[in-house]
Amino acid sequence: MQWLWLAAASRRDSTTPDWNASAWHRVPDLYDLVSLDPFLRHLRTTPVNLLIAAAYPEHLLISLLRQSHIPGEYQTAANFLKMTDSLGTLEENSDAEDLISRRIVVWDSRTPLDMEPFTRLCQDCLSAAAMAELPSARAPKQRWYPIVDKTRCAGCMECVNFCLFGVYETGTDGTPKVIQPDACRPGCPACARVCPNQAIFFPYYDDPMISGDMIGEAAESAETTQPTDGAVDADGQPTNPRLAAIRKARAERKEFKKKKAEPETQEESVERWMRELDELES
Ligand code: SF4
Ligand code: SF4
Repeated sequence: MQWLWLAAASRRDSTTPDWNASAWHRVPDLYDLVSLDPFLRHLRTTPVNLLIAAAYPEHLLISLLRQSHIPGEYQTAANFLKMTDSLGTLEENSDAEDLISRRIVVWDSRTPLDMEPFTRLCQDCLSAAAMAELPSARAPKQRWYPIVDKTRCAGCMECVNFCLFGVYETGTDGTPKVIQPDACRPGCPACARVCPNQAIFFPYYDDPMISGDMIGEAAESAETTQPTDGAVDADGQPTNPRLAAIRKARAERKEFKKKKAEPETQEESVERWMRELDELES
């Protein structure tokens, strides 16, 4: 199966990788495309392997593409290249027969990686036809909605019960399904905070634990380690914005856990949400 290389825009950084620059097809930010966008439909139905570079954490990009129903075997670029090293040539490892088993390799273009095996792909392995047929994405507007990482989700339904705006419903697989993404309140990351498994992300939120830039052990250790570098302001808060964001998330999670013993009423949830919105707007 041939390959299609996509360099997706991002509000964080939109540079196209410099190796074999002419082989990359520049596309808009995938987060901003609506599900019925002709470009996403094309990716769902065209049998090509995909190499997708974007300035996103790779786990987040995989969750976003899965949430957009793009079928394939997902891998990070580093894992794919490791496997290619041990199992044979890149061509041999990308010989899929259908959409379900085609390769979708994602790469956080902010991280350095030796992609040399890709640069050796022959011209016949790069799909000019798929590129020529690629429909333009509609002019996207900047969107705001949750991305659920199903590999981290425990199916507790805290998020579904918590959201007052009908963004989620329970999916047939027992995990949350984002059914009305555009009903999500811009700037509200509340469900990401209440998720006990850190499985919900908003890529453009400025807290690295919610934007997906910090997950797993790194997030745990940030939650249990007092920040030591950087100055503090008059209120004792770190002036370093990243450390301040970690401390804020930690305090809010503690608060939420305390409240869990006495669940909030719906009115209290609305009041708290309005308060948070006021804070964001001020
Ligand atoms: S709160 Fe988190 S773990 Fe629970 S269902 Fe939602 S995403 Fe999954
Ligand atoms: S961020 Fe707020 S509005 Fe959006 S889905 Fe989560 S709880 Fe609902």
